[in-house]
Amino acid sequence: MSKKVAVVTGANKGIGFAIVKGLCEAGFAGDVILTARNEQLGREAAEKVRSAGHHAVFHKLDITNQSSALELQKFLKENYGGLDVLINNAGIAYKSNATEPFGEQAEVTIHTNFWGTLWVCHALFPLLKPNARVVNMSSFVSKWSLAKCSPELQAKFRDPALSEEGLCSLMDEFVAAAQRGDHESKGWPNTAYGTSKIGVTVLSMIQARALTKARAGDGILVNACCPGWVRTDMAGPNATKSPEEGAETPMYLALLPEGAKEPHGCFVSEKTVEEW
Ligand code: NDP
Repeated sequence: MSKKVAVVTGANKGIGFAIVKGLCEAGFAGDVILTARNEQLGREAAEKVRSAGHHAVFHKLDITNQSSALELQKFLKENYGGLDVLINNAGIAYKSNATEPFGEQAEVTIHTNFWGTLWVCHALFPLLKPNARVVNMSSFVSKWSLAKCSPELQAKFRDPALSEEGLCSLMDEFVAAAQRGDHESKGWPNTAYGTSKIGVTVLSMIQARALTKARAGDGILVNACCPGWVRTDMAGPNATKSPEEGAETPMYLALLPEGAKEPHGCFVSEKTVEEW
């Protein structure tokens, strides 16, 4: 049997780095692949894990570059014959004082947080082994932003019949409306980050339903989660949790024991399923 393997995206710093370290410290029975878009930062981060006495393997991955995801797919296939744990952690957020026009912020944020996550999933889901765990890093902001959507949009985002294609169209509609400047009158919240994370949460629910159908009996679990408010470059020094504390819920989902049936297709915060 080939060795187990876990992949963490955006892991050169912040919560992603804490997850890599945490998986190693928890004795993950296989290799933990620390991925980063910047090769030097990624290699330095993997070295830091090694100097703490653990083993992390670096592999480059820019989630917005589909060929980069396919290179990682090839590496995993050749070296591990599949994938056991995927943690889609990489993400961006403009600062509240950013001066870029809102339409640009919407396009860039949806491109990375939604489309980037989706492209990594398209490349790596075919490799998921039985009992694999997928964790998509969303945020509580996705729930707050859903509450700010029009009732019609809320119904679409909660519709159990929404397809991946339908969700992609909704994300495109938001970007187009943001660029025209009429997103609020069309029922969208005034947040690019929040809307991108609605996309990540709903994508996780759609992926869970699709896997349940296509691979019934394989025991694969997919969830979205919020790490809490965490002191990283993204959230700043006033946040309440350390990166290690932020890593707890995603690690809990990544390490759900073999045979577990739930949570699956849920939005999870503080290791607890939240209503969507
Ligand atoms: P950081 O800004 O500290 O880290 C983000 C990581 O994502 C970095 O490694 C960054 O790489 C990477 N990244 C960004 N874009 C890409 C890309 N195109 N390809 C590959 N990697 C990329 O943020 P956090 O650690 O705080 O955030 C991690 C996740 O948790 C994000 O998805 C965030 O939205 C989510 N989250 C964070 C919260 C918080 O309070 N911190 C709260 C709720 C959710 P690089 O160094 O090269 O920029």
